[in-house]
Amino acid sequence: MEITEVQEKELRSYIPSVTIDEDYNLLTLNDSARRMFGDVVGKKCYKVLYAFNEPCYHMGIKCPVYDKITDVDIISVSYENYIRGYGSAPTQGIYWENVINITSIQVLRLSMIDPLSGLYNRRFAESFLEKNFSLWKRYGQPFGLMFIDIDNFKEINDKQGHLTGDRVIRKISSYLKVMLRSSDVACRYGGDEFLIILPNTALEGCERVALRVFSYVECLEFSFPLSVSIGLTHPLEQDERYEDVIERADIAMYKAKKSGRGKIGVAASKERVYLIDGGKKDEQCKNTS
Ligand code: GH3
Ligand code: MG
Repeated sequence: MEITEVQEKELRSYIPSVTIDEDYNLLTLNDSARRMFGDVVGKKCYKVLYAFNEPCYHMGIKCPVYDKITDVDIISVSYENYIRGYGSAPTQGIYWENVINITSIQVLRLSMIDPLSGLYNRRFAESFLEKNFSLWKRYGQPFGLMFIDIDNFKEINDKQGHLTGDRVIRKISSYLKVMLRSSDVACRYGGDEFLIILPNTALEGCERVALRVFSYVECLEFSFPLSVSIGLTHPLEQDERYEDVIERADIAMYKAKKSGRGKIGVAASKERVYLIDGGKKDEQCKNTS
């Protein structure tokens, strides 16, 4: 069935549509978008449309402004039920975006977040890592990868109960949420494992972040000893896939475990994996309190 121009216009008015300038500010909203978002002209599109604190491309999501999409294009982002249409508006430097099926934003968020910890889930972190890996391959943009595993977590569960185990996971996760930069992505990778991707961060910077996480955990006041083992690495010339970087961070973490747990293993290259000791507990906790 053919649809007339008028019908098409009518249909379009039901699709929330906004225009955005080069600085991610919302310029105009059609009626449908206004009903949905209110009077938000001048606010940042990523805040209003997606409740992010930074542009969507930081999250590995295609963005009409950043990606400079010039043709009308429908892009299916790799999250279920989620489609956005983009294009350039007639005026240069202005972009539009149609948000189709707004309830899917909820779906998108749910599909990204691990329910227990509130951190990103593994699937999201891997797609973010993949994006960072390709930026590194193409432009040499560095990033760091940190793998954290709680020490003797089975014993904590067995002796203190599963609910206390969950509380430990949540406590560490809340700290990661506040201490990391908003451009970093922390995820719960598995049961007691966390993976952190630190874009634009050299290995020395990652070591400092790892030491802070390490001290925070050591100084938590639980009635039982708690520590983590951490593996750190960065991408290397010989890496072919982002999984190679994860594997190396895992190996560095395993080295920290093997050397008695409660340490940080750093894989600077394939051959050079060294250990950092977090220092004496009393000293660390004096500094963090
Ligand atoms: P290691 O120091 O070698 O890491 O020893 P570990 O006991 O921590 O061993 P491992 O990392 O293999 O154990 C992870 C445990 O985490 C196994 C599982 O019982 C527990 N676990 C996995 N998911 C959850 C969860 O959601 N909540 C709680 N409380 N425990 C979990
Ligand atoms: Mg463990």
